[in-house]
Amino acid sequence: MSETLTTGKVGTFEYTLEDDTGKVIDSSSGKSPMVYLHGAQNIVPGLEKALEGQAVGGVLDVVVPPEEGYGESSGREPQVVPRREFPKDVNLFVGMGLRAQDSEGKPFVIYISDICGSRVLVTTDHPLAGKNLNFHVEVVGVRDATSDEIAHGHAHGLDGHAHHH
Ligand code: ZN
Repeated sequence: MSETLTTGKVGTFEYTLEDDTGKVIDSSSGKSPMVYLHGAQNIVPGLEKALEGQAVGGVLDVVVPPEEGYGESSGREPQVVPRREFPKDVNLFVGMGLRAQDSEGKPFVIYISDICGSRVLVTTDHPLAGKNLNFHVEVVGVRDATSDEIAHGHAHGLDGHAHHH
């Protein structure tokens, strides 16, 4: 019996992600396939749900709505932050996510939505917030997670022993 993706398994898949106009946003083509720990929220909830029970060779076309993807757009205007408030040695780019802390020290992520000279526009909306995610996925690997991977809550590469930060 072939292994299927359930909590505690590490899945590997090739993927193409398109927006609703058919524009390719991201793809594993020419890169490494995605390796993830199932049930650990390593990937968006809608895709994890669709992969549940799949085995090697499984091919899926999944439309993930924003509430199961990167969330709804907040509708709030981006905030302007002067470039000098970011670390000098960090190469900022549009779409980049940065860790920040609120006044109580609670971590959250901000995304750069635009850079105009010394003014950087940031938003708490993920660049794909409010968008349907159209995934085409092919499962190419399913294996048991190592105890380290389960303890860490993420996959350690194809064989489970990849170095990571
Ligand atoms: Zn780890």
